[in-house]
Amino acid sequence: MKLTIMGSGTSHGVPVIGCDCPVCKSKDPHDKRYRASAFVTDGTHNIVIDTGPEFRMQALRQGIKTLDAVLMTHGHADHLHGLDDVRIFSSTKQNGVWHRQSSFFDSLLNRHGDGLKIFANPHTKKIIFNHFDYIFMHTQKGGGKPRIDLWNVNEFSQNNPLKIGTMSIIPVPMLHGKLPSTGYLFCEEADSKTHSIAYLTDLNYISEESVDIINRSKGQLDHLVIDALRIREHSTHFNFDQALSLSEKLAPRHTWFTHLTHDLSHNDVQKYIDENLNKYPALEQIVKDGGSVSPAYDTLELTTKG
Ligand SMILES: [Zn+2]
Ligand SMILES: [Zn+2]
Ligand SMILES: [Zn+2]
Repeated sequence: MKLTIMGSGTSHGVPVIGCDCPVCKSKDPHDKRYRASAFVTDGTHNIVIDTGPEFRMQALRQGIKTLDAVLMTHGHADHLHGLDDVRIFSSTKQNGVWHRQSSFFDSLLNRHGDGLKIFANPHTKKIIFNHFDYIFMHTQKGGGKPRIDLWNVNEFSQNNPLKIGTMSIIPVPMLHGKLPSTGYLFCEEADSKTHSIAYLTDLNYISEESVDIINRSKGQLDHLVIDALRIREHSTHFNFDQALSLSEKLAPRHTWFTHLTHDLSHNDVQKYIDENLNKYPALEQIVKDGGSVSPAYDTLELTTKG
């Protein structure tokens, strides 16, 4: 199983339009941050987490040819507004037959058609219906819109994971300000052992119950990708210290900060982590034993050690 970071930036992206700060002007490719997104594959089945405004460029850079599902974290524009571009992945015939597109009412009734499967929590589903209403209308003829099959991701759980190929995916409820946001734990069996990757972005609160969901299911948590906006606190995002604190509770082998602002360069984020790790002794021990805590960057590939 492999997760590739397609975007590690906050809602503005980095560089920020019109900004002349050293990070936005940096020549280091690690400092070019598209909006937060990831590509996950078991080698055969392909999944994208979130379709932000740069989805098209990210999909081209990643060389994605087929897509089996999209997992949405929440409905903010920086995670959703490239959704229309999934139509290239939803317009192929299946067994030579064009399948009926799911309608708005089908989706409300949880009746599913055969378009590209998109999984989102109920709040995010509502935002998709509102912002992309034309997708669900039967009035427009022609192929100019995606054919999508929208599922409530909360139908899946630790006891009933979403199975795609060899991957078992468990949604993790979180809060992003007042907004429900969904993290994802990807598990795969290898050598009669569970290996996992957790992707938790856009949160400022996670319940003990959700921490338990991850800790009970993770097996060996090879990687944690976690929202870590900046040093200062924020009302709807984890800052660096909150991210480090949660990472200590989840004990991944490797921790990767994502959703980064232009406050600090890649190298300066790493410097902050290195200088503050001693506040989190269990995490520091993991690093001493060969693990790592680092800023993620676009195109970073994380594999499970099966
Ligand atoms: Zn965001
Ligand atoms: Zn800047
Ligand atoms: Zn957000």
